[in-house]
Amino acid sequence: MTAPMTAINATHDPSLKSWVGSANRAGADFPIQNLPFGVFRRSGSAEAYRGGVAIGDQVLDLGATELSGLAAGSAAEALAACTAPTLNAFMALGNAAWSALRRFLSDALRADSTFASRLRPALVPQKAAEYAVAARIGDYTDFYASIHHATTVGRLFRPDNPLLPNYKWVPIGYHGRASSIRVSGQEFPRPYGQVMPKGADRPELSASQRLDYELEVGVFIGAGNTLGSRVPIGTAEEHVFGVCLLNDWSARDVQAWEYQPLGPFLAKNFATTISPWIVTLEALAPFRAPWTRPASDPQPLPYLDSAELRAAGAIDIQLEAWLETGRMRAQGRAAERLSHSTFRDSYWSVSQLVAHHTVNGCNLEAGDLLGSGTQSGPLPEEAGSLLEITEGGKRPITLGTGETRTFLADGDRVVFRGWCESPGYVRIGLGEVTGTVLPAADTG
Ligand code: MN
Repeated sequence: MTAPMTAINATHDPSLKSWVGSANRAGADFPIQNLPFGVFRRSGSAEAYRGGVAIGDQVLDLGATELSGLAAGSAAEALAACTAPTLNAFMALGNAAWSALRRFLSDALRADSTFASRLRPALVPQKAAEYAVAARIGDYTDFYASIHHATTVGRLFRPDNPLLPNYKWVPIGYHGRASSIRVSGQEFPRPYGQVMPKGADRPELSASQRLDYELEVGVFIGAGNTLGSRVPIGTAEEHVFGVCLLNDWSARDVQAWEYQPLGPFLAKNFATTISPWIVTLEALAPFRAPWTRPASDPQPLPYLDSAELRAAGAIDIQLEAWLETGRMRAQGRAAERLSHSTFRDSYWSVSQLVAHHTVNGCNLEAGDLLGSGTQSGPLPEEAGSLLEITEGGKRPITLGTGETRTFLADGDRVVFRGWCESPGYVRIGLGEVTGTVLPAADTG
């Protein structure tokens, strides 16, 4: 029996400091209490990608020879799995192994560790590293878990009937495409697609004119379930390795024409960008919050409800979306914040998404990715997409450069940031995810 993923332990101790000095700076994303996992190599090298842990502004190379022989038992087994170019094998080991490695790394990196001088050569500066998607993602499912997003978007697509009657009962999702998911820094051409111009009687093929971002949390599955079995909500979080930031780029004009009756298809699968670091569920334990459902709403069916969910099923992850246009870059201006929200407001929790995904016996596998859906809050400034901010393109926003936007322009770079704060605990961050829109390519 392992401890629940919400349990606080010695690795969350706010008094812990690291011998890596940058980890101790106030406001750092990667203090010793975080210890997120990713895969990396030295920039521009031909090295094999291997696992690493972010600590301050450094990466601890989990494939480094300096680490060999230091860990024992399941921590040693977990560490060995992290030397591979993807973390699937590590993820498949399960939460006892993840927890054992976290405890080992916390001890090895703490200020009074006797390993400090031995491990210093195993650090690589983050600015000298390049990253890859941390797992081979076999399957990707994107949900629609924010009721604020669903209501606002529903109103734009169906003014008379914004929220469909199933929304409050079933976590809505669709199977997305795994092969076009890339790590932060992705650049992609504006997609072409079939669109129906306003007032026209037939669609045309054109470069999307309504390209958008979606501010989402990505959830990596760790240990899977066998086909035909169900993951009960009470143990759902044992199957969750951790979370990242996810930008589900969306071509709204393509989406509006294609989405009925089977949901998103080519409007969503040309690019999806995720942050390089996966923050484990264990690291998020201090930032849990009660999951609530208004008494006036239907309460979840029993397979989507539990006492643990009610007590601490939500996770308070602060999310932000920033825009940097080509003109801002040319003028040396800072990016501008467009959106901020918290994952705590999500209508459906991570445990509910996992329990629902498997209720029919569908098998999740190590490295599978779930998207939370655009996370918008109840306030207008908490809208997690341009579609919502500009009311479907009807209300352009004006930027500090004097430029206006309804949807994304060529050269626009979108940056998401995420972090968690709670009184009595050390702030941890998810880092950032960036992506840049290039002009449409004539693909002949
Ligand atoms: Mn989405």
